[in-house]
Amino acid sequence: MPTKQRKIALMGYRSVGKSSLTIQFVDGQFVESYDPTIENTFVKNVKLRGQDYGLRLVDTAGQDEYSIFPQAYAIDIHGYCLVYSINNMKSFDVVRVIYEKLLDMTGKVHVPIILVGNKLDLQHERVVSVEMGKELANKMKADFVEVSAKDNGAVIDLFNKLIISIEKGGHDTTDGSNDKSGNKCLIQ
Ligand code: GDP
Ligand code: MG
Repeated sequence: MPTKQRKIALMGYRSVGKSSLTIQFVDGQFVESYDPTIENTFVKNVKLRGQDYGLRLVDTAGQDEYSIFPQAYAIDIHGYCLVYSINNMKSFDVVRVIYEKLLDMTGKVHVPIILVGNKLDLQHERVVSVEMGKELANKMKADFVEVSAKDNGAVIDLFNKLIISIEKGGHDTTDGSNDKSGNKCLIQ
Protein backbone atom coordinates (compact mmCIF):
# COMPACT_ATOMS: atom_id res chain seq x y z
CA MET A 1 0.00 0.00 0.00
CA PRO A 2 1.33 3.44 -0.89
CA THR A 3 2.16 5.86 1.88
CA LYS A 4 -0.69 8.16 2.78
CA GLN A 5 0.17 11.80 3.34
CA ARG A 6 -1.70 13.36 6.21
CA LYS A 7 -1.52 16.88 7.56
CA ILE A 8 -2.47 17.68 11.14
CA ALA A 9 -2.74 21.10 12.77
CA LEU A 10 -2.24 21.68 16.48
CA MET A 11 -4.20 24.65 17.69
CA GLY A 12 -4.93 26.22 21.03
CA TYR A 13 -4.11 29.05 23.39
CA ARG A 14 -0.49 29.92 24.07
CA SER A 15 1.56 27.83 26.50
CA VAL A 16 -0.84 24.89 26.57
CA GLY A 17 1.87 22.58 25.26
CA LYS A 18 1.30 22.37 21.51
CA SER A 19 5.02 22.41 20.76
CA SER A 20 5.82 20.07 23.66
CA LEU A 21 3.29 17.52 22.40
CA THR A 22 4.60 17.81 18.84
CA ILE A 23 8.23 17.39 19.87
CA GLN A 24 7.42 14.53 22.22
CA PHE A 25 5.73 12.76 19.32
CA VAL A 26 8.37 13.52 16.70
CA ASP A 27 11.55 13.33 18.80
CA GLY A 28 10.50 11.30 21.83
CA GLN A 29 11.60 13.92 24.32
CA PHE A 30 10.11 16.62 26.52
CA VAL A 31 11.55 20.07 25.98
CA GLU A 32 11.26 22.54 28.84
CA SER A 33 11.26 25.65 26.74
CA TYR A 34 10.50 26.21 23.14
CA ASP A 35 10.08 29.49 21.30
CA PRO A 36 6.35 30.16 21.71
CA THR A 37 6.04 32.54 18.80
CA ILE A 38 7.11 30.45 15.88
CA GLU A 39 5.08 28.16 13.76
CA ASN A 40 6.78 25.04 12.55
CA THR A 41 5.91 22.05 10.48
CA PHE A 42 7.34 18.74 11.63
CA VAL A 43 7.35 15.54 9.64
CA LYS A 44 7.17 12.01 10.89
CA ASN A 45 6.62 8.68 9.21
CA VAL A 46 4.56 6.17 11.12
CA LYS A 47 3.08 2.78 10.45
CA LEU A 48 -0.34 2.14 11.87
CA ARG A 49 -2.49 -0.94 11.29
CA GLY A 50 -0.18 -1.97 8.44
CA GLN A 51 -0.46 1.38 6.70
CA ASP A 52 2.44 3.79 6.21
CA TYR A 53 1.72 7.45 6.83
CA GLY A 54 3.77 10.50 6.03
CA LEU A 55 2.61 12.95 8.65
CA ARG A 56 3.03 16.68 8.60
CA LEU A 57 2.34 18.33 11.91
CA VAL A 58 1.67 22.04 11.83
CA ASP A 59 2.58 23.33 15.27
CA THR A 60 0.83 26.69 15.18
CA ALA A 61 2.02 29.70 17.15
CA GLY A 62 -1.25 29.71 19.08
CA GLN A 63 -4.57 31.51 19.04
CA ASP A 64 -6.74 33.44 21.43
CA GLU A 65 -10.45 34.20 21.39
CA TYR A 66 -9.92 37.15 19.07
CA SER A 67 -7.73 35.44 16.51
CA ILE A 68 -9.00 35.26 12.99
CA PHE A 69 -8.97 31.68 11.88
CA PRO A 70 -6.21 31.54 9.27
CA GLN A 71 -7.38 30.24 5.94
CA ALA A 72 -4.22 28.18 5.68
CA TYR A 73 -5.52 26.08 8.56
CA ALA A 74 -8.90 25.56 6.96
CA ILE A 75 -7.78 23.92 3.76
CA ASP A 76 -5.51 21.01 3.17
CA ILE A 77 -5.60 19.87 6.81
CA HIS A 78 -6.90 16.38 7.47
CA GLY A 79 -7.32 16.54 11.21
CA TYR A 80 -7.00 18.87 14.17
CA CYS A 81 -5.52 18.50 17.56
CA LEU A 82 -7.21 21.14 19.74
CA VAL A 83 -5.19 21.58 22.88
CA TYR A 84 -5.99 23.17 26.22
CA SER A 85 -4.29 22.85 29.55
CA ILE A 86 -6.20 21.33 32.50
CA ASN A 87 -4.82 24.04 34.78
CA ASN A 88 -6.00 26.96 32.68
CA MET A 89 -9.70 27.76 32.22
CA LYS A 90 -9.01 30.44 29.65
CA SER A 91 -7.32 27.87 27.43
CA PHE A 92 -10.45 25.73 27.60
CA ASP A 93 -12.65 28.67 26.56
CA VAL A 94 -10.29 29.45 23.70
CA VAL A 95 -10.51 25.92 22.33
CA ARG A 96 -14.30 26.29 22.20
CA VAL A 97 -13.99 29.50 20.18
CA ILE A 98 -11.42 27.96 17.84
CA TYR A 99 -13.82 25.10 17.19
CA GLU A 100 -16.67 27.45 16.20
CA LYS A 101 -14.40 29.31 13.82
CA LEU A 102 -13.06 26.07 12.43
CA LEU A 103 -16.55 24.94 11.48
CA ASP A 104 -17.31 28.29 9.88
CA MET A 105 -14.08 28.34 7.92
CA THR A 106 -14.08 24.78 6.65
CA GLY A 107 -17.80 24.75 5.97
CA LYS A 108 -17.82 21.11 6.94
CA VAL A 109 -20.19 19.40 9.29
CA HIS A 110 -17.70 16.88 10.46
CA VAL A 111 -14.00 17.47 10.91
CA PRO A 112 -11.68 14.88 12.47
CA ILE A 113 -10.66 16.39 15.80
CA ILE A 114 -9.05 15.22 18.97
CA LEU A 115 -9.59 17.41 21.99
CA VAL A 116 -6.55 17.26 24.24
CA GLY A 117 -6.44 18.29 27.89
CA ASN A 118 -2.70 18.63 28.44
CA LYS A 119 -0.51 18.93 31.56
CA LEU A 120 -2.14 15.98 33.29
CA ASP A 121 0.93 15.76 35.53
CA LEU A 122 -0.24 19.05 37.10
CA GLN A 123 -3.35 17.44 38.65
CA HIS A 124 -3.00 19.54 41.79
CA GLU A 125 -3.53 22.66 39.67
CA ARG A 126 -6.53 21.28 37.80
CA VAL A 127 -9.36 23.72 37.09
CA VAL A 128 -10.94 22.03 34.06
CA SER A 129 -12.68 18.82 35.11
CA VAL A 130 -12.63 15.62 33.10
CA GLU A 131 -16.42 15.95 32.69
CA MET A 132 -16.10 19.38 31.11
CA GLY A 133 -13.59 18.03 28.63
CA LYS A 134 -15.80 15.07 27.77
CA GLU A 135 -18.84 17.25 27.34
CA LEU A 136 -17.09 19.60 24.95
CA ALA A 137 -15.64 16.70 22.98
CA ASN A 138 -19.15 15.25 22.64
CA LYS A 139 -20.37 18.53 21.22
CA MET A 140 -17.50 18.53 18.77
CA LYS A 141 -18.04 14.85 17.94
CA ALA A 142 -14.36 14.62 18.70
CA ASP A 143 -12.18 12.15 20.52
CA PHE A 144 -10.99 13.25 23.92
CA VAL A 145 -7.86 12.55 25.93
CA GLU A 146 -6.05 14.03 28.86
CA VAL A 147 -2.29 13.65 28.66
CA SER A 148 0.99 15.00 29.86
CA ALA A 149 3.45 16.03 27.17
CA LYS A 150 6.02 14.29 29.39
CA ASP A 151 4.35 10.93 28.79
CA ASN A 152 5.65 9.54 25.50
CA GLY A 153 3.24 6.61 25.29
CA ALA A 154 0.19 8.76 25.90
CA VAL A 155 1.31 11.28 23.28
CA ILE A 156 1.84 8.57 20.67
CA ASP A 157 -1.60 7.15 21.48
CA LEU A 158 -3.29 10.49 20.97
CA PHE A 159 -1.83 11.03 17.52
CA ASN A 160 -2.66 7.45 16.56
CA LYS A 161 -6.24 8.07 17.64
CA LEU A 162 -6.43 11.12 15.43
CA ILE A 163 -5.02 9.24 12.44
CA ILE A 164 -7.64 6.53 12.89
CA SER A 165 -10.34 9.15 13.12
CA ILE A 166 -9.06 10.76 9.90
CA GLU A 167 -9.25 7.36 8.20
CA LYS A 168 -12.86 6.96 9.24
CA GLY A 169 -13.53 10.36 7.72
CA GLY A 170 -13.17 8.80 4.30
CA HIS A 171 -9.94 10.18 2.94
CA ASP A 172 -9.12 7.16 0.88
CA THR A 173 -6.79 8.53 -1.74
CA THR A 174 -3.09 8.72 -1.12
CA ASP A 175 -2.98 12.49 -1.19
CA GLY A 176 -6.09 12.85 0.91
CA SER A 177 -7.86 14.87 -1.76
CA ASN A 178 -10.96 12.71 -1.80
CA ASP A 179 -13.03 14.95 0.36
CA LYS A 180 -16.48 13.40 0.41
CA SER A 181 -18.07 16.61 1.56
CA GLY A 182 -17.34 18.02 -1.89
CA ASN A 183 -16.02 21.14 -0.26
CA LYS A 184 -13.06 21.69 -2.49
CA CYS A 185 -13.17 25.40 -2.78
CA LEU A 186 -13.61 28.04 -0.19
CA ILE A 187 -15.74 31.00 -1.11
CA GLN A 188 -15.37 34.10 1.00
P1 GDP B 1 2.72 26.11 23.27
O1 GDP B 1 2.82 27.59 23.38
O2 GDP B 1 1.29 25.66 23.28
O3 GDP B 1 3.49 25.54 22.13
O4 GDP B 1 3.34 25.53 24.64
P2 GDP B 1 4.78 24.91 24.87
O5 GDP B 1 4.86 23.54 24.32
O6 GDP B 1 5.82 25.88 24.46
O7 GDP B 1 4.74 24.76 26.46
C1 GDP B 1 4.59 25.90 27.31
C2 GDP B 1 5.21 25.58 28.67
O8 GDP B 1 4.47 24.53 29.30
C3 GDP B 1 6.65 25.10 28.56
O9 GDP B 1 7.36 25.59 29.65
C4 GDP B 1 6.51 23.59 28.66
O10 GDP B 1 7.66 22.99 29.18
C5 GDP B 1 5.32 23.44 29.59
N1 GDP B 1 4.56 22.20 29.34
C6 GDP B 1 4.04 21.77 28.16
N2 GDP B 1 3.39 20.61 28.31
C7 GDP B 1 3.48 20.29 29.62
C8 GDP B 1 2.98 19.20 30.41
O11 GDP B 1 2.31 18.27 29.95
N3 GDP B 1 3.29 19.23 31.75
C9 GDP B 1 4.01 20.24 32.32
N4 GDP B 1 4.24 20.16 33.63
N5 GDP B 1 4.47 21.27 31.60
C10 GDP B 1 4.22 21.30 30.28
MG1 MG C 1 4.54 26.48 20.62
